[in-house]
Amino acid sequence: MPSAAQASPDRPEVRSLAGASAFPDAVPARTPGAEAVPGRRILLAAPRGYCAGVDRAVDAVEKALEHYGAPIYVRKEIVHNKFVVETLSRRGAIFVDETDEVPEGARVVFSAHGVSPAVHAAAAARNLATIDATCPLVTKVHKEAVRFAKDDMDILLIGHDGHEEVEGTQGEAPDHIQVVNSPDEVDQVVVRNPDNVVWLSQTTLSVDEVMETVRRLRERFPKLQDPPSDDICYATQNRQVAVKKLAPESDVVIVVGSANSSNSVRLVEVALQAGAGAAYRVDTADEIDEAWLEGATTVGLTSGASVPEILVRDVITRLGELGYGEVEEIRTATEDIAFSLPKNLRADLKAAGTNPDRARRGNRRSLPVDVK
Ligand code: SF4
Repeated sequence: MPSAAQASPDRPEVRSLAGASAFPDAVPARTPGAEAVPGRRILLAAPRGYCAGVDRAVDAVEKALEHYGAPIYVRKEIVHNKFVVETLSRRGAIFVDETDEVPEGARVVFSAHGVSPAVHAAAAARNLATIDATCPLVTKVHKEAVRFAKDDMDILLIGHDGHEEVEGTQGEAPDHIQVVNSPDEVDQVVVRNPDNVVWLSQTTLSVDEVMETVRRLRERFPKLQDPPSDDICYATQNRQVAVKKLAPESDVVIVVGSANSSNSVRLVEVALQAGAGAAYRVDTADEIDEAWLEGATTVGLTSGASVPEILVRDVITRLGELGYGEVEEIRTATEDIAFSLPKNLRADLKAAGTNPDRARRGNRRSLPVDVK
């Protein structure tokens, strides 16, 4: 079986995984070359796929490779998608687990999920040139954690232990933060002062599950404070709303995304909770098992925030081969957000006469990274 990153005979290697070229034009109303079986259709969620933080992080690695040349080291997966990681690896990115695997003085990119201050310090100690591609919406949560720790509050971070984003946020205030994985863990939480407690959350969780955890926490700690704004990011929420809309009409929902992608895995759960007959996650079209589609007339389709649209188009083509000829896009929101590249990379590109502001995601407006 070809690797996820290899070009299929029908699809040439993608030139860029970020920017407008990663977002093919409007979806055709009929699957290409399909021998359609009457009644079989695809409901395609919108929004789906790349969020602004992922687009920026992938763009940062591509631009770094172009500008500084290979190799560029990347700590952890730049975003949790197998195709993206394999493609960037072939272009000269070297993915490592920790900064001590990066040669002294070399250049390293920090992933969209964010890193703790200890990682910044370790990189500085090795004299590494860093490009911090942490999503600005994750940075916002880090800043909240620092502020609440300064106020000596107990911070209950709703998230999944071991996830890179959670490790990064926790590292901002390790003495004040404890992780709450699920509503079932609420009873085990111990705080110093129940009147001085706040909750924060990982950005990519199920909105409903987080709200249930908060409800149970508040039963135990009635003075529990809310974060100043939603931590679950706009992209996670929008993709969940869209899949909820199409799930009740879908015999099967297919979510394109990698197994370690939190928001992709949540989309499968949300689809099932919203009434889909069944829901499956695939990395690529060739993972679709025809048995899943037995008797299914309507297939819902969406993708996680780290998934390039090209992989969704491959799934549409595959479903077309299986008789699903009609494609209807179900749009529940329009997104027009983009983040500018990390500051030092922008500065180097500008100094070299390269425009760092290549349009990302079509006509999206570009926002500075210090969004509130
Ligand atoms: S899912 Fe949200 S928080 Fe995560 S990278 Fe995308 S925009 Fe940022």
